[in-house]
Amino acid sequence: WENHTRRTAHWPAEMCDGVRVAVQANLESLEELDALPECGADGVGLYRTEFAYLKGDLPTEEELFREYAAVAAKAGPGRVVFRTLDAGADKMLRAQAALKEPNPALGLRGIRFSLRHQGIFRTQLRALLRAGVAGNLALLLPMISGLAEVQGVRRILQELRQELQAQNLPHAPDLPLGIMVETPAAVMVCDALARECDFFSIGTNDLIHYLMAIDRNNRHVGYLHEPLHPAVVRSLKRVIDAAHREGIGVSVCGELASDPCGLALLLGMGVDAVSAAPRFVPGMKHMIRQLDAETCMDLAHSVLMSTDVMASQRMVREKLHQSL
Ligand code: PEP
Ligand code: MG
Repeated sequence: WENHTRRTAHWPAEMCDGVRVAVQANLESLEELDALPECGADGVGLYRTEFAYLKGDLPTEEELFREYAAVAAKAGPGRVVFRTLDAGADKMLRAQAALKEPNPALGLRGIRFSLRHQGIFRTQLRALLRAGVAGNLALLLPMISGLAEVQGVRRILQELRQELQAQNLPHAPDLPLGIMVETPAAVMVCDALARECDFFSIGTNDLIHYLMAIDRNNRHVGYLHEPLHPAVVRSLKRVIDAAHREGIGVSVCGELASDPCGLALLLGMGVDAVSAAPRFVPGMKHMIRQLDAETCMDLAHSVLMSTDVMASQRMVREKLHQSL
């Protein structure tokens, strides 16, 4: 659906029975922001911040501030969710490569790296807090596996606000703080995490890999990357329900959101937003307009009851075939 007409890109993503879903864009650099106005996205659901760190020297606070403020300004009134540095695994910094971890995907990745190297993390958070004055920003923490990590970040943010205040540097007093739900541990404690966070974003790329215990880049076990596996489906449902019970929004920013079967399933489970690369956004919105929430809910219910992956795949394909 990449080639889907852009003519309807700005029509709202409203299902046949009136249920609205936000369709947001995933971006990796300031340059990609040019694609945002024409794709019709409701803001940026995931801004990956690794790019500035992978170029060589570590970026300064001023460089990051300029990048983030420019992104926020260019995105207009729509919210931009900035994910803090997700270094590690397939996005390795020099400092990390030097550690020579035997299994970096299970190592000092994402928030673990940031909390260990607080100088780097504090520089990024200061830049984000300062950029928060220029637009509608939210912060997203990658690779969270427990409550203590979120509480630790909240404490650091509090200290940085006091620091910026003392330095008379304009900054946002409060930015919504969300987490990527992408580890099995986060799924298991999602009820407690939902009370500590302002929103959830489910990273299905990593979540599927960590749930299935497969390396994201290992083609030998690629056949186990199965979004309709009951372990994945039940995890998604558990996280979405926990978020809603605690009154916070939940989006999905992994590739599952831009897969037609995955999208129908996620809509049926009640996600509030989906986020994908800009080229997918018009087609996703088009598909959402052709579906109704009740059909998707029935579908999700059947898939949740099933322990047979092949049967689930058939069910989803047939239902989509009838609806689209
Ligand atoms: C994910 O894990 O689903 C995700 C969106 O993050 P990334 O692919 O950048 O790890
Ligand atoms: Mg991820």
